[in-house]
Amino acid sequence: MQPTQKGPDPQRGSNPKERPEPIIELRNVRKIYKMGSTEVRALDGVSVSVYPNEYVAIMGPSGSGKSTMMNIIGCLDVPTSGTYALNGLEASEMNDDELAAVRNQEIGFIFQTFNLLPRVNCIQNVELPLIYSGLARKKRRAIAEASLEKVGLSDRMDHKPNELSGGERQRVAIARALVNDPSILLADEPTGNLDTKTGEEILDLFEQLYARGNTLLVVTHEEYIARHARRIIRLRDGMIESDEMVDRPVLDAKIQDLRG
Ligand code: ADP
Ligand code: MG
Repeated sequence: MQPTQKGPDPQRGSNPKERPEPIIELRNVRKIYKMGSTEVRALDGVSVSVYPNEYVAIMGPSGSGKSTMMNIIGCLDVPTSGTYALNGLEASEMNDDELAAVRNQEIGFIFQTFNLLPRVNCIQNVELPLIYSGLARKKRRAIAEASLEKVGLSDRMDHKPNELSGGERQRVAIARALVNDPSILLADEPTGNLDTKTGEEILDLFEQLYARGNTLLVVTHEEYIARHARRIIRLRDGMIESDEMVDRPVLDAKIQDLRG
């Protein structure tokens, strides 16, 4: 195992002027739940910066604070103390409209359980985040169709979620997450309900998004999945245990092996 790296990302230029601004910056974030007389420290002083177009895996045992951290990054939850800045803007200084806009425009969410609406078809599920966009119906539909094409589901547009396999459902969820063209993709155990082969399809999609310039944060329990990312942050008891670059990511290794 590599030694834990502290402070600025060593892959970036050493001249601070050349270093891009973080897209995500948590500073000493705590999230404390009071349960009667006891308190749960879901996050206990987490500081981390993520730069544009990083591909980060978040690992750690169950209950270590992974989902809490993702929810704060996604502006679905707020820290008890500490600060969170997204694109240099403090989340605590945004009003409800600004937060809603950020959640809708800047961030795409993918969940383990897909979270699709069961009664409507794929197109309608994917269209959902566009409802408040002010776009005409035809335009919305065209964008949703294009998003489903990107995930290889052109031939399943009229199907309802229960008519699809698990992998297809997750791809619909990814199409929905991408429909507003967000720069950041947050995935909380996206392959947790999928078999290995189907999980690989999702990882291939993430690789494409990374190549297109998106910033990805992916929570996973599995070391093999984490090694598709370029950086692994490990949480334990609400604290960062380690934060390391992956020296031979799985897909880089695959490409190298193909080249011989
Ligand atoms: P992980 O995603 O790593 O499994 P979580 O972030 O979901 O962990 O939870 C971290 C800790 O915070 C756990 O001990 C969990 O029980 C607790 N927790 C999470 N959400 C709540 C809540 N709404 N109320 C009380 N405790 C919570
Ligand atoms: Mg979780």
